[in-house]
Amino acid sequence: MSAIQIKSKLPNAGTTIFTVMSSLSVQHNAINLGQGFPDYQMSEELISLVNEAMKTGYNQYVHMNGYMPLKEALAEKVEYIYTTKVNPDTQITVTPGATYAIYTALTAILHPGDEVIVFEPAYDSYIPSIEINGATAVTVQLQFPGYSIDWNEVKSKINERTRAIIINSPHNPTGSVLSENDIQQLRTLTKDTQIIIISDEVYEHLIFDDKKHESILKYPDLLEKSLVCFSFGKVYHCTGWKLGYCISSEYLMKEFRKIHQFNCFSCDAPKQVALSQFLKNRENYVGLGKFLQKKRDYFQQLMQQTKLKALPTYGSYFQVYSYSDISDESEKDFAIRLTKEFGVATIPLSTFYSSGTNNGVLRFCFSKKKSTLETAVERLVKL
Ligand code: PMP
Ligand code: GLN
Repeated sequence: MSAIQIKSKLPNAGTTIFTVMSSLSVQHNAINLGQGFPDYQMSEELISLVNEAMKTGYNQYVHMNGYMPLKEALAEKVEYIYTTKVNPDTQITVTPGATYAIYTALTAILHPGDEVIVFEPAYDSYIPSIEINGATAVTVQLQFPGYSIDWNEVKSKINERTRAIIINSPHNPTGSVLSENDIQQLRTLTKDTQIIIISDEVYEHLIFDDKKHESILKYPDLLEKSLVCFSFGKVYHCTGWKLGYCISSEYLMKEFRKIHQFNCFSCDAPKQVALSQFLKNRENYVGLGKFLQKKRDYFQQLMQQTKLKALPTYGSYFQVYSYSDISDESEKDFAIRLTKEFGVATIPLSTFYSSGTNNGVLRFCFSKKKSTLETAVERLVKL
């Protein structure tokens, strides 16, 4: 043991399940339907725009809040889709990914003793990002198997310490989406309170079956008390770019930027320049939902040959499947065996619950090439 001892800020944190399952997948030469990333090429046009930006000389720091033409393009998109005007100068900040935006948002608003309501299953960074700020996560379980919110339970958990509520739609890991009624419930519960909404909208355009994305950006009264986080990486099939942004009201954004300026300060310049041009063409984002819906439909149809039972997904990269007809093993054990013995990596949903809730379900990522999905299902039919 080293002579130097530190008091861990996250004493209970292990290695994130995404890294664990991806490593296991490589080790066993499995098809990786675990961690959420596409295995197909991103837009060639966007790649060329980045190359061009670098050759033109956009290789130095851009403004700490983001490259202005990109923020203007985002504001234009927000107005076009949600009919809400946001000021690109004061309400948008470009960040190195959405995880960072969520962390920065929480760090800007939380103090020791504060509570944050988190719906579980929850994306794995939320609770550590709350706890590192000395605050406490108060969890509410989404109702299995539809993964909807029991707003009465949320109401019962709100008290004077409640500082924030984190929402995520389309939802990782379940693919459920919030409805207009959910937003209305959120409005009622947060009215005349000090509660701030952190809205994780990384799967913004990736929504299916003609459902409408209930973005906080649609509701200026809610945006006033919200920090809304997005990911270019997720939406434009380049998760390795780690680039995103946050939109908020002016007064919350001021606090967000105080943290941001001493952490990342300024994000990747050539990619911001490229995206500012790419976003001018609406075709580059309006068709994304349909593109991914085709992948969901294809995967779901292939999966009918297996004994796994699909739960509905209306957005994101993911679909949850139940294996309760096959085995009563724990989700973690089953996911490990599936990787080792059948060559398909997935993510056990129990890892998205602080209490380890086990419903006998696994998350599959379908943002993959047809051939990848086909090979995975050829293996899964053997189950
Ligand atoms: N939130 C959710 C719900 C996610 O699935 C992800 C995964 N990409 C993120 C945040 C983080 O996005 P980024 O890679 O841009 O940090
Ligand atoms: N968001 C991705 C997922 O849910 C992975 C991100 C990560 O590996 N941290 O699979």
